[in-house]
Amino acid sequence: MTYYECEACGQLADFADAHGRPLRRECPACEDPTVWKTAFADEQSGVSF
Ligand SMILES: [Zn+2]
Repeated sequence: MTYYECEACGQLADFADAHGRPLRRECPACEDPTVWKTAFADEQSGVSF
């Protein structure tokens, strides 16, 4: 599981369909498409490519 952080406001979100890549997505807090970067990943799930 990878958590993303909105670059504009710091909102945290979990995008299950995004796998560690930076992405643009609508932010529920900003109510605008913003850049999301990875905040942290769940170490328990390990690395699987
Ligand atoms: Zn935001």
